[in-house]
Amino acid sequence: MIYLDYNATSPISPRALAIISEIGAIPLNPSSIHYYGRKGKQIIENSRRHIAQLVGIGANIRDYDIVFTSCGTEANNLMLNNYSDGEIFISAIEHPSVSMYAKYQDNVRKIDVKPSGIIDLEALEAALASSKANRKLVSVMLANNETGVIQPLKEIKSIAGKYGADMHSDCVQGPGKLKMNLSEWEVDFATISGHKFGGMTGVGALIMKNKHVLKPQIIGGGQEKSMRSGTENVLGIAALGAAAEEVLQNLDANIDKMQEVRNYLESKLMSDFPEVEIIGSSVERLPNTTLLIVNGKKSEMMVVALDLAGIAVSSGSACSSGKVRESEVLKAMGYKSDMLNSALRVSVGAGTTKEEIDVFLSKFREIIS
Ligand code: PLP
Repeated sequence: MIYLDYNATSPISPRALAIISEIGAIPLNPSSIHYYGRKGKQIIENSRRHIAQLVGIGANIRDYDIVFTSCGTEANNLMLNNYSDGEIFISAIEHPSVSMYAKYQDNVRKIDVKPSGIIDLEALEAALASSKANRKLVSVMLANNETGVIQPLKEIKSIAGKYGADMHSDCVQGPGKLKMNLSEWEVDFATISGHKFGGMTGVGALIMKNKHVLKPQIIGGGQEKSMRSGTENVLGIAALGAAAEEVLQNLDANIDKMQEVRNYLESKLMSDFPEVEIIGSSVERLPNTTLLIVNGKKSEMMVVALDLAGIAVSSGSACSSGKVRESEVLKAMGYKSDMLNSALRVSVGAGTTKEEIDVFLSKFREIIS
């Protein structure tokens, strides 16, 4: 198989695999007083340091807390639940772990995006200005999982700050694909997820300025400064830290590699496939992501046919049952309903080669012709 679905999940990195096999059989409960407990605690604190470096808060780690959770979804939920007594402003292109919150709570306002996929900053400012809520939260993702479009977090934070709103960013698609700098972006809260950058599934983190204290949504023994109880997933957290360390070591070179392969793909698509449109290509995007639309073709058909041909890609908007659904992201960007089921997402990794892209292109040609 050729794997071109890195935005869905990534393989576990060698350093993460090594630590899993090194400590996997040791009984590590960080709450224990004895040697094993202390070792578990030390592993967790080590991971916190690597994550701090990864997201650009290494120099001022004292101002932040890193709260480990069971996934990115849980971290996003923890965030939003803490503003249930206020008003929450989200972009119209958030991941379901943020956008579905609006289905269950009536204190969420969705802010439109421009056709480019970037949030409408004027609309955000107008919405904040009209809010009567005492507590406000702006939650806008760093980079969209379908299109790869990157949001101007610093500008968003500065608008949020003008109206006394705190700022959260779902940064799940960032690590390993761009240089993270939470200190510079000044966001109050950020979410990451292990399996998107070489860690394991089932572990994530909410990184937060420690002037804030969160009300827990999981209550118990007081782990993670009582903000997220439950015996820590030491193995997952260790792998997350190891993956963060590995990502940082090779970041510049890997970004260049992904960008070169992705640009190669897009130049071939543009020259050889006039029926294909590349989404978000006029604005800054993740270096590894291409979302394309083939007018008149169904995503599901293309994904299944490519799978049969040995290539793993995605429609970008599959739900948990694996069924392709209309892309809310494309809808928010103004695409017409006949286009919403016609997208194909190719997301490469640092190890993806141009030869693999050539195989993809030749199968893709067969499938759409
Ligand atoms: N946010 C974004 C942007 C994502 O792409 C994902 C996963 O696809 C998540 C949140 C959810 O992360 P997790 O799978 O760890 O729950």
